[in-house]
Amino acid sequence: MKILVLNCGSSSLKYQLIDMENESVLAKGLCERIGIEGSKLTHKVAGKDDFELETPMPDHSKAVSLVFDALTDASHGVVKSVDEIGAVGHRVLHGGTKFTESIVVNDEVKKVIRECFDLGPLHNPANLMGIEACEKVVPGKKNVAVFDTTFGMAIPEKAYYYAIPTEYYEKYGIRRYGFHGTSHTYVSNETIKFGNLDPKNAKVIVCHLGNGASISASIGGKGVDTSMGLTPLEGLIMGTRSGDIDPAVVQFICNHENKSVDEVLNILNKKSGILGMSGVSSDFRDVEKAAEEGNHMAKVGLEAYRYRIAKYIGAYVAAMNGVDAIAFTAGVGENDKKTRKLIVDEYLGYLGAKIDDERNDVRGEERLISTDDSKVKIFLIPTNEELAIARDTLRLVEA
Ligand code: ADP
Repeated sequence: MKILVLNCGSSSLKYQLIDMENESVLAKGLCERIGIEGSKLTHKVAGKDDFELETPMPDHSKAVSLVFDALTDASHGVVKSVDEIGAVGHRVLHGGTKFTESIVVNDEVKKVIRECFDLGPLHNPANLMGIEACEKVVPGKKNVAVFDTTFGMAIPEKAYYYAIPTEYYEKYGIRRYGFHGTSHTYVSNETIKFGNLDPKNAKVIVCHLGNGASISASIGGKGVDTSMGLTPLEGLIMGTRSGDIDPAVVQFICNHENKSVDEVLNILNKKSGILGMSGVSSDFRDVEKAAEEGNHMAKVGLEAYRYRIAKYIGAYVAAMNGVDAIAFTAGVGENDKKTRKLIVDEYLGYLGAKIDDERNDVRGEERLISTDDSKVKIFLIPTNEELAIARDTLRLVEA
């Protein structure tokens, strides 16, 4: 079966068509500037020139219909008709407390996704627009919602409750949900498979270090803890997000700068992290370059970034009473050998973890990067959220 995976943002739509016979990507692409002037589709098929189309896309329905046109086009398409596409898997940010699993979309599912708009205000409305666009453009085709919060729904009460009055959980579902859940599930399972670890009992820590970054602990692939919280703001220092911070900082800045809570939250989400500390960029390559050239706060920002990761690793080793493997993934985790090496060399000696420089000299492929005598196995495991969504979609439509 061929599965289309859609990841809808408020003004963008990313897609991949995956042939589940061999899990190969037949085509992938991006619609940008949906609902804004200058909309553009970029469609990529291996071995062919990219197909680009600049045409108005007033809404997600138009974008979805252009994606189906591109996929079935005589020259740059990869299927003869939409009938060859078995189902559509949608990335949905927030499933609230109701969804602990991916699910085939029906009216009730859509209602709950809508109820979660205030938990995922930037993403859930767009995710639902993508689903409704598919229902309109290819009626009758099954849509599956795969939630970013599923991994975090498995963590125990002691890890997901915040120590605030319980009424806020009961009234509004305020708890730790965690995000990048599809990635944490995929990478922890892939680590167990690739590393030949005990599928039931392996204790794995996954460091998903992209522009957004989060870290998780799992035993046998089942979530134990995860660093993002009610929103993706909590936890690690990220490209533009502060991660953990004393909430009183918000009040302090509000009072001294005459800003609203929303404005300060915007600063913590978009102007903080490695960008805010260094004042240089949210891209780690730029910040590393600035640090090498002597920019003091770029250097401190990167040190703080690694330090925060190491503190979480330490906490999660304690949470699981041990660790068998640590996996690095996403933009920085997959490409930045220096950061991987420094985290292990500077902080993980007490675990008996040792990086192998030759093995660590790698980008974007599954590999053991620790030495043979390292007491903890360290891996690079590229994440593949689209494939994870497609696998879940296939499982549910075949059930
Ligand atoms: P997103 O969270 O947007 O999905 P990615 O997982 O694609 O992010 O990661 C993007 C980030 O990865 C960029 O901001 C960049 O800082 C970082 N990155 C990519 N390549 C490298 C590299 N060679 N060295 C350091 N950082 C890198």
